[in-house]
Amino acid sequence: ATPVGLLTGTGRGAQLGILIKGPQVLEDTRSVNTILLDKTGTVTSGKLAVDHTLALNGHSDTTVLTLAGAVEAASEHPIAHAIAAAAKAGLPDAATLPGVDGFTSAPGGGVRGTVVLDGTARTVVVGRSGWLEQNGVAPNAAQQGTLAAQENGGATAIWVAVDGQAAGIVSLRDTIKPGSAAAIARLKELGIRPMLLTGDNAAVAAQVAAAVGIAPGDVLAGVLPEGKVEAVRKLQQQGAIVAMAGDGVNDAAALAQSDLGIAMGSGTDVAIEAADLTVMGSDLGQLVQAIELSRETLRTIK
Ligand code: ADP
Ligand code: MG
Repeated sequence: ATPVGLLTGTGRGAQLGILIKGPQVLEDTRSVNTILLDKTGTVTSGKLAVDHTLALNGHSDTTVLTLAGAVEAASEHPIAHAIAAAAKAGLPDAATLPGVDGFTSAPGGGVRGTVVLDGTARTVVVGRSGWLEQNGVAPNAAQQGTLAAQENGGATAIWVAVDGQAAGIVSLRDTIKPGSAAAIARLKELGIRPMLLTGDNAAVAAQVAAAVGIAPGDVLAGVLPEGKVEAVRKLQQQGAIVAMAGDGVNDAAALAQSDLGIAMGSGTDVAIEAADLTVMGSDLGQLVQAIELSRETLRTIK
């Protein structure tokens, strides 16, 4: 039988905007001592904006952004939304983005598709270096240097390749959620070790971590979706009780592996399904309230 206190806790959770999958979840929540926080969409708003586009190889900025935006229009990644929106904004008033054929997406990697622009079919690949490699595109040293410079400047830098060659770099910026730093400070007071986990580059991850008070040694960057699962498992093997908070398709497997999977309400359905607990308002402060609630509730039962 489920203790009455736990049921009450579930109801109070709902009032706080926290959706709990079952009464057992509160018990798992109480024992958590380590929390892996996904960066994009969890610690940051995930509402990225394109800062600028740098065309390479004789392409124009507009062509690169239009081709990238046409493919990204079919993806639900925050980076994709930003690139598609910027591409649309760059077109003349009534114009729409060209359609995409053969769309493929790799979580934590990028997207690919065929776009017809000005009567010519183009194979377009958008994403991180590893995804370009998988698609047989190898940017030269100078192009790689350009991308690294963007990243070191704190941008999320994304490759755009056209017909097998690097064609441009789109640089995006995100903003940290207003409540993130305070929530992370409170987690530490509760004896919970906050860690940052992201598929994004190390420079951006380090900047975000510093801004919200996560120790440099507790930042894991450039991590692919499988790597996120591995990170959870490794901490568990070291004896940690691990919560993982995320919002993306790329986070789902890690949410399932963790002792307590937490999804952001603004996130993808896949993440919400894999999670034990969903923070409807997507604010980290609410997540901390859930942990406090679990501790209170169980104290009441005892
Ligand atoms: P995060 O862990 O920050 O939520 P992801 O694992 O979703 O990030 O993505 C990791 C990296 O993969 C991104 O920083 C980007 O370089 C690339 N990527 C993933 N999805 C896309 C996409 N739709 N378009 C372009 N790049 C993408
Ligand atoms: Mg995310």
